[in-house]
Amino acid sequence: MRTGMLKQIHYPFIGVLLVIGTLVTPAYSQAANTTADKTDNQPNIILIVTDDQGYMDVGFNGGTEIPTPQIDRIANEGVRFDQGYVSYPVCGPSRAGFMTGRYQGRFGFTTNPTMNPAIPNAGVRLDEEMISEVLKKQGYSTMAIGKWHLGIQPDYQPRNQGFDEFFGFLSGGHQYFPELLTLNSMQEVIDNETSWYYMRLLDNGKRVDIDKYLTDALSDRAVEFIERKKDQPFFLYLAYNAPHTPYQATEKYLDRFTHIEDERRRTYAAMISAVDDGVGAVLDKLDELGIADNTLIFFLSDNGGPINKSHVADNGALRAGKGSLFEGGVRVPFAMRWPQIVKPGTDYVKPISSLDIMATIAAQTGAIIAKERPLDGVDLLPYVTGENPGNPHEVLFWRQLSKGSYAVRHGDMKMVLGESKADENDTLLFDLSQDISEKKNLSGGQKATLERFITLKDEWEEELEDQAFPELRSWRPWIDESTGKPKRKKK
Ligand code: CA
Repeated sequence: MRTGMLKQIHYPFIGVLLVIGTLVTPAYSQAANTTADKTDNQPNIILIVTDDQGYMDVGFNGGTEIPTPQIDRIANEGVRFDQGYVSYPVCGPSRAGFMTGRYQGRFGFTTNPTMNPAIPNAGVRLDEEMISEVLKKQGYSTMAIGKWHLGIQPDYQPRNQGFDEFFGFLSGGHQYFPELLTLNSMQEVIDNETSWYYMRLLDNGKRVDIDKYLTDALSDRAVEFIERKKDQPFFLYLAYNAPHTPYQATEKYLDRFTHIEDERRRTYAAMISAVDDGVGAVLDKLDELGIADNTLIFFLSDNGGPINKSHVADNGALRAGKGSLFEGGVRVPFAMRWPQIVKPGTDYVKPISSLDIMATIAAQTGAIIAKERPLDGVDLLPYVTGENPGNPHEVLFWRQLSKGSYAVRHGDMKMVLGESKADENDTLLFDLSQDISEKKNLSGGQKATLERFITLKDEWEEELEDQAFPELRSWRPWIDESTGKPKRKKK
């Protein structure tokens, strides 16, 4: 199996590769990069995101069933984050968080947004700034590839949110085989009584056909962009929808996993393997062009692996999965590489957040962050290099309005509210240093701690806004509500 993989042409899978360029933080003394010379040394930044990938479904976290040698390069040649969190346990809001560096609740993006064309504001509010917008002001070339899921209205699409170029789809998931992608508009989706997963891809505003497996098409485009922009600082947001459902893969990748009996798990593994090839292609291109050293790459999954019903992700010892505020829903595969700054093989074990991506990029490129919209993240570099031995975060918060659930992490302690209907006492307190699986509820014996956590949560929530737009499932005219499935399946 592995030998077969090695024989493949490497189109490494890029999960989430975020490459950040120049160091600007004055307190952080490192070689070369300062604001003054940023036009010469501005780092390239690649943010690679995978979709619904389990914590253990990557080699760098110890997973062995699905080899990811290319994704592992990012961690092995940079830093692996043992406790890398996203700020929301489902796709859209998680992305709204890391793309702005702010808790999505601050601007009401607290659910996967409706795709109803009649709802004008279902996206990241326009006065918020995304990574792409702040980097564009710094002179970066910017491109988004793959899944968007941050709004379908024209104003909310990538090219109006700081991206020069966009190749991908606006939906929350997509079909992977090119012959399935035939529809051109939401009206055609409705008329065909099928889902928006069947729409043709958008290529800078035009609907286009692809001639290969979707993951491969996204990887190819990423490599093409890097080649084309090699002489200027660029920001590439490479957002794979793999391994999100539907589980679909080609023989090339399925053949690597004939030992996995469960067909869905085998297909899921193949989908990740395709991403791995894509990441490898991106990393190889950086090497070939001689720009790897000054390219800051982030890799992460947008939420934990789904494990309910027919899903097959593996979150290891972590409790629950996608859609939950237990660790399995919010603690994700997370790595960063910047060869000229970060020592290879760094293992960073303190909690960090996907909200730190924006703060790190801003600090390292000198990007201006508006005072009225302070970031919730921190520059990770001083922590990763050891310059700052402290904790990146005193406290981390989560709020999931659809469930009425909350979580607060402070030190090793974590409070979870409203997630476990099975627990009679739904106010749970765990010591993650002793209980990574969140099995032993300590709330009964630690009333004072619990009260303090609830106060922290209440104070934080006062800064948040109500949900700004309806959720995804509030408008699905193609769905047969009795079965939950599309009325008519595309062939
Ligand atoms: Ca997701």
